[in-house]
Amino acid sequence: MTRTAPIVQLEAISKHYGPLQVLDAVELEVFPAEVVCIIGPSGSGKSTLLRCVNHLERPDGGVVRLNGEIVGVRESRGQLVEVAPAELARQRTEIGMVFQSFNLFGHMTVLENIIEAPIQVLGTPRAEAKAHARQLLEWVRLEGKEDTYPRQLSGGQQQRAAIARALAMRPKVMLFDEPTSALDPETVGEVLSVMRRLASEGLTMIVVTHEIDFAREVADRVAFMDGGRIVEMGPPEQVLDAPTQERTRKFLSRIL
Ligand code: ADP
Ligand code: MG
Repeated sequence: MTRTAPIVQLEAISKHYGPLQVLDAVELEVFPAEVVCIIGPSGSGKSTLLRCVNHLERPDGGVVRLNGEIVGVRESRGQLVEVAPAELARQRTEIGMVFQSFNLFGHMTVLENIIEAPIQVLGTPRAEAKAHARQLLEWVRLEGKEDTYPRQLSGGQQQRAAIARALAMRPKVMLFDEPTSALDPETVGEVLSVMRRLASEGLTMIVVTHEIDFAREVADRVAFMDGGRIVEMGPPEQVLDAPTQERTRKFLSRIL
């Protein structure tokens, strides 16, 4: 049997901030159409790990591969050197990211937010970018909001617009960093429901979340992080309902 190649491979990713080791040789492979949820206490390195995937942070050990290609750096005379900005921008088009704080451009309408990168980075003709943006807005149930400015939207609507903006680049993988943590409780569900639909469409996703019910239902695998390491990883029913590690049990008993 041939095994599908992973889309994302983290190979011994380490990161320090001064003396603080935030990531300690983290290994993770994510396969096509897989949803991996990362849970763990605050400060355990979840955001840093996600930011290493698209090279918003440069790991100081290890490499990230996307479809086999190293992200952000290349080998030159036995050393890893940063790739050119245009090369990194090209690599990043394949990795969509949605943050906790909806970071839409405040001075642009929803539609302008969505078409900006496809036009500027991919060179998509404006009319085509607009047509795609309208489809995406419908898909995240924001039809009719294209001329609205972000501040006029609820948190949940802004986050759905941010998801549409990321999808406009037709990414191969989507990273979500606690996408519902900053939302009013009544709008959390609408964002999770969009994410659930993305997962069922076969999009590859890495989701840092405290929404354990979402992880249980949507994740193919759950990784529990603590102290810069993946302490435990497996199917949700294993990690969430029958964890083998004491640290996982403690964490879950605190948040459930
Ligand atoms: P999590 O997302 O799991 O809460 P983070 O990845 O944000 O964890 O942070 C992990 C650790 O790294 C924390 O102790 C945090 O204070 C520290 N950290 C994160 N970013 C920086 C930075 N830019 N400079 C210094 N320390 C940082
Ligand atoms: Mg974080």
